[in-house]
Amino acid sequence: MPELPEVETIARGLAQRVTGDVIDSIWLGRKPEPLKSTAREIAATLEHTRIATVRRMGKHIVFDLEKNRVSSTQAQWIVHLGMTGRLQVCEPQAEILKHTHAILKLASGRELRFVDPRRFGRLSVARAGNFDAGGIEPLEADLDRFLILFRGRKTPIKSALLNQKLLRGVGNIYADESLFRARIRPRRRASTITRDQLAKLLASVKEVLREAIALGGSSISDYVDADGEEGFFQLQHRVYGREGEPCLVCKTPIKRIVIAGRSSHYCPNCQK
Ligand SMILES: [Zn+2]
Repeated sequence: MPELPEVETIARGLAQRVTGDVIDSIWLGRKPEPLKSTAREIAATLEHTRIATVRRMGKHIVFDLEKNRVSSTQAQWIVHLGMTGRLQVCEPQAEILKHTHAILKLASGRELRFVDPRRFGRLSVARAGNFDAGGIEPLEADLDRFLILFRGRKTPIKSALLNQKLLRGVGNIYADESLFRARIRPRRRASTITRDQLAKLLASVKEVLREAIALGGSSISDYVDADGEEGFFQLQHRVYGREGEPCLVCKTPIKRIVIAGRSSHYCPNCQK
């Protein structure tokens, strides 16, 4: 499943390729699952609009659309990639892959296609400014807002980090890596963590996400066109997926526990 850094990289790649292009027409497949708005609404909203910007909100990709006619209102096309969703910018003669659910014909002559074998991805539309991805953006959070999120919460800090109503888009891998860098055990109750430790955690969350975005950024062009899932440059994990392997700091074997159904990895010596 693409995490925040991958979605950011994909959104940047799309922004480079399709900003300013005009959507002439759209074809939608018959599978109902990918459509969170109706096919009619999506077609009416997207057709004959100019793509003003493409950006990430949480794990969503948001296309800000302008109607050609000056008087018309602006709108947004929102794409969630789910587990296996991909957005492909290609020439019209490119083979249409199985599991293609939407094809946008662009005025530049290219096509923007949405392909999703497992159909957990979602397409929807909203009036400009109406889309709310929930939670606060981790890369934009300041310490005061971050502290408020965890005040009085008795849940493990790991669960709180994954709660999309609090923070937008932090997934399992990046939560484990951030907690390791901040030296906090994933099972610690959020309310017992000091202000100084939370400040360290916020800095770690931002650091981990920025590093992953920087790594992904070097392969932007591969993402959008790629047929497979290759192309995601993985952050060098310090704890995630390293159960039983020595901690890179103190050589203690990394532990794996399950919190709220998700694997959590930590160093029992470095993290308190
Ligand atoms: Zn350690």
